[in-house]
Amino acid sequence: MAVVAFIGLGNMGAPMAANALKAGHAVRGYDISAERRAVAARLGIEVSQELAEAAQGADIVLTMLNAGPAVIEVWARALPAMKPGGLIIDCSTIDVDSSRRAHAQAREAGRLSLDAPVSGGVEGATAGTLTFMVGGDEAAFAEGRAFLEALGRRIVHCGEAGTGEAAKICNNMILGISMIAVSEAFLLADGLGLSRQALFDVASSASGQCYALTTHCPVPGPVPTSAANRGYKPGFAAELMAKDLRLSQECARFAGAATPLGHAASALYERFIGEGGRGIDYAGIIRFLPDADAPLAQAGE
Ligand code: NAD
Repeated sequence: MAVVAFIGLGNMGAPMAANALKAGHAVRGYDISAERRAVAARLGIEVSQELAEAAQGADIVLTMLNAGPAVIEVWARALPAMKPGGLIIDCSTIDVDSSRRAHAQAREAGRLSLDAPVSGGVEGATAGTLTFMVGGDEAAFAEGRAFLEALGRRIVHCGEAGTGEAAKICNNMILGISMIAVSEAFLLADGLGLSRQALFDVASSASGQCYALTTHCPVPGPVPTSAANRGYKPGFAAELMAKDLRLSQECARFAGAATPLGHAASALYERFIGEGGRGIDYAGIIRFLPDADAPLAQAGE
């Protein structure tokens, strides 16, 4: 069993650390927030007051943070402290360029590294059923695979450094665009006198079928577990979708890729969170769309 240091004990990091503990690892943790350190301590994690202390001699360091600069800063401090030849894994959702820079830091320090962002939310982190999208070389993947299997159900090796982040960002761009498409279809159905249930019954078994419709259905009724049935309480908060779409646009610029619908979806989610959508499930954009019917080009500005 390994000595593992979790840096970032937020909504995702703390339950993931608890699952590593259940799997028999010696788990230490650090977070800049005293409140989050206390939450982790209650879960049985050996909490440090200093980042370097948590990482000292660790076989594996796992970061679960909010943004690229924090990952680069935390890796710079953790890498010299951890075991030489050890493995550092970033599970945060961040831009591909920052992720590749973090990998380069690890390489220079003689440590193995993986980017391994997740899908499955807090429920998946708690139940140990996350999907990990993993980027990094074969040696690092071989070293990390068994450890990640204790925290998730599906571990997909996507390719070299940064490709885990690329997969996560592409996937969530599909989800953001398709939630808007599904919402627009329900609004159009309302205007045409077509019942929401009838649209659901047809589209969920026809070519309009997609996750945003069949799992996160943005109108109450057809999918009882969707956020629409609990006043759009998240779930997956709109500001997290806005962040992922922002990342998709940073990456599109970096890669020179054309993503006009990703651009428009990003602009719509930014407007949504700026006009009361913060803290609401991302499916709640259906309530904002009637006020946002500006032409596509204008919405994308
Ligand atoms: P969170 O804000 O709850 O947790 C992040 C934690 O990092 C916070 O507790 C914060 O105090 C800590 N932190 C920030 N800077 C730090 C530093 N320099 N040193 C130590 N700790 C530091 O966020 P979360 O919901 O746990 O999400 C974490 C990551 O996972 C994000 O990148 C998010 O996009 C991604 N993600 C979240 C979900 C979700 O449903 N919450 C789903 C998939 C992916």
